[in-house]
This record gives sequence, structure tokens and C-alpha cells, in this order.
Amino acid sequence: MAKLQPVRGTKDLLPEETRRHRHVEETARRVAELYGFGEIVTPIFEFTEVFKRTLGDTSDIVTKEMYTFADRGDESLTLRPEGTAGVARAFISGGLQQQLPLKLFYRGPMFRYERPQKGRQRQFHQVGVELLGVETPQGDVEMIALAAQFLGALGLGERVTLELNSLGDAESRAAYRDTLVAYLSGHRDKLSEDSRERLERNPLRVLDSKDEGDKRVVADAPLLSDSLNAASKAFFDQLLAGLDAVGVAYNLNPRLVRGLDYYCHTAFEFTTTDLGAQGTVLAGGRYDGLIGQMGGPPTSGIGWAAGVERLALMLADIPDPARPVAVIPVGEAAQGVALTLTQQLRAAGVAADLGFSGNLKKRMKRANGVNARIAVMLGDDELARGAATLRDLDSGEQSEVPLDQVAARLMEKDA
Ligand code: ATP
Ligand code: MG
Repeated sequence: MAKLQPVRGTKDLLPEETRRHRHVEETARRVAELYGFGEIVTPIFEFTEVFKRTLGDTSDIVTKEMYTFADRGDESLTLRPEGTAGVARAFISGGLQQQLPLKLFYRGPMFRYERPQKGRQRQFHQVGVELLGVETPQGDVEMIALAAQFLGALGLGERVTLELNSLGDAESRAAYRDTLVAYLSGHRDKLSEDSRERLERNPLRVLDSKDEGDKRVVADAPLLSDSLNAASKAFFDQLLAGLDAVGVAYNLNPRLVRGLDYYCHTAFEFTTTDLGAQGTVLAGGRYDGLIGQMGGPPTSGIGWAAGVERLALMLADIPDPARPVAVIPVGEAAQGVALTLTQQLRAAGVAADLGFSGNLKKRMKRANGVNARIAVMLGDDELARGAATLRDLDSGEQSEVPLDQVAARLMEKDA
């Protein structure tokens, strides 16, 4: 088979890598639970419509990045490019309005057809949280504090910066939209084709264009913050006061936008300079208009998602998995005893490795290879006495222990 290799932009994760991923995911879940979040698992594919409606026809994701296919029943389905749409769909189809406010955590693979590079894949993983049904800035404060605590728990607190902006309410954005369109129209000839199209359909999206020419035009564009009305300013001030109160530091970044209509008020990103071009590790915002726009009961929401691969790349050493003990039969007679003892240890909750074959030297090498803490040596002499020799592989200390006490002894040392 010519194609016996992973698809471009996808990766096999081997145990060393899955340990790092799991550390990121379990840290996120644990911290989210401290804030009262429970886990939701939605399908990894949805009707294409679910993403078109939530992400908008003009977004990069919808226009260029979705894995969309017709299934055998000719339904148009899409592998999820992000998590919020599925959660919002689940909220609506599951009739979860009665349970508001809802705090949901999710994790799992996402799919986007992008140009693969360091920290950017076609199948990647996210952890994320959504808070539904909270209209006040208190919700925004908690969500950002949760993000900061999560990154702190990973040991990355000093290496990331929180960038923060307000998009204001619908009235403020409508006012800004007019100002922006007037400005961009004056520079139409310098904009990319994509952005000229966005100028007609969704001008705010020009602001997060990655095209260099667009960026130059955008650099001098009027600021959204100058169009905020009093209510929007008050909301933002309460958010900032809340973050100050809980000690979360931020940089105000008036250029940070999310160019979709249902985004409002808070937009934020945690960025790092340690990953080159892929510097955003966590991004989120408030989306009060989204669920209504999807056809559900108008419900406010705020959420964020973090890229597991990018965070895993930043992690230094993570805790070792439980170090096993290595059971080492010396000679034929000990084989059967070794198997029984190994199973007893595992049944008692002690991680135990039994090399499948080989002489003493080979087995000792294997014990080192699996980073064993103790070798349980079963030689003919010991066996004749109904005992085993326990050798601490770090200190070299040895002692003889009756076979029926080995498990108990190793459980003590496990603690
Ligand atoms: P970028 O600007 O890097 O394309 P984005 O705005 O598309 O990011 P979001 O949709 O906000 O990203 O997703 C949240 C997080 O998921 C990102 O900050 C990033 O850490 C991660 N992420 C997004 N796309 C990818 C990808 N293709 N590969 C790996 N991680 C990704
Ligand atoms: Mg992207």
C-alpha cells in the first residue's frame, strides 16, 4: 500500500506523548471541577449546518478548513472543527434550559484542513469550557480566572500573557461597524480579495485577517474601544475590577477581535512567545447571541478553548508514571512462581513487570528500561527457602523476604 502512512497533519501519539496530553487534559478537568464544571461529550461529527450557523459563512473555518462529507444516506456531515457549536447544539436539542446556569467542560480531537506546521495540525486536540446562562461580568471573571489557574497548574503561569479586549454590545458594534466600513472603504485597493469580500459581508472579520497587506491597513483602523457605549464600558470596567480583585494580570489589547456577530463584550487570549508563530495557547470570549441565532432560546454564553498540542509542547518534565517492580526469575524452576507472584502484585495494585524471556543480564537490562524501582529476584536458593530477594535498584540495597510477604512489603514501599 502506497498510502500506509498517517494522513498529512495527523499524528500517532505514542505513550510518551499521550502522557503529556493526559496531563494537560486531566489538569484542565481537575481545575474545571474546582469551579463546578462537569464534563460533556458530544459527537465528533455534526450536521454541517451546525457549524455553518455558529461559525458563519465568512469565517476561515467554514470557507477553508472544514472536513465535510456526505454520508451513505447523503447527509452533509462535518468533523467538528471546534467544540462550542456542538455544545450549543446539545443544549438546544437536549432542552437543557431548565438547568441554567450550566458549566460544561469538554476535551477531544478537532479537525481543520490547515497547512500543518509546528503547533498546527489537521487533527488536533482541545480542552474547553462553556458557561451558559450567566449575563453578568462575574461569569467572565470566573472563566478567565479558571483559564489562568489551569495554565498556572501546568506551571506555565509565567510564560503566558493574557490579552483582553471588549467588543461591546450590539449597539456599540453597530456604531463601530459604520466607522470601520468608512475607513476600510478608503483603503479598499490595499485589501486582499478575501477582505474586500468581508468588507461587504462581515467587516469586523477584516480585523483578524492574517494577510500582511490587510494587517497594515488594520494597524491604523479606528478602535472599537472608542465606539463602546456607556453600558458596554460599565460591563468591561466590572470585568477588569473583578480580575484585579482575584489577582489575574492582563494586557489590554484593543486590536483583539472576534469577527462574528454573536460575539460580544469580552474577548481574550493567552499567548506565549515560546512557540514561534503559533503563539495562542488558549482563546475565548462571550457569545450571547449564538444560541438564539442557532434557533434556540436566547441564552448568554461565554467559553474558551485551549490547544492541547501547543500546551504539551511547552511542558517541561511531567510526573513519572508509577514505577513498576520488576519480577526476575533466575532459572527455569522459578518461571511459574514468577508468573503467580507478578499477578498477585498486580492484583494488590502494585505495578509489576515480568520480562517475557531472557537470561538474568537481559532481564536486569529490561528492569532498567522500564525504570523499575525494585527487582524481585527469584533464584533457586531463595526459592528453596520459600523466599525472594528484593533489590532496591536506586540504592542497591537488598533483603530477603518470604514469598507470601512480598506483596505486602511492596505495597508499603508504594506509598
Ligand atoms: P490560530 O490563530 O492559531 O489559527 P484559532 O483562532 O483558529 O487559532 P481557536 O479556534 O480560537 O484558534 O482555537 C483555540 C485554540 O486551539 C488555539 O488557541 C490553539 O491553541 C488551538 N488550535 C487551533 N487550531 C489548531 C490547529 N490546527 N492545530 C493545533 N492547535 C490548534
Ligand atoms: Mg485558525
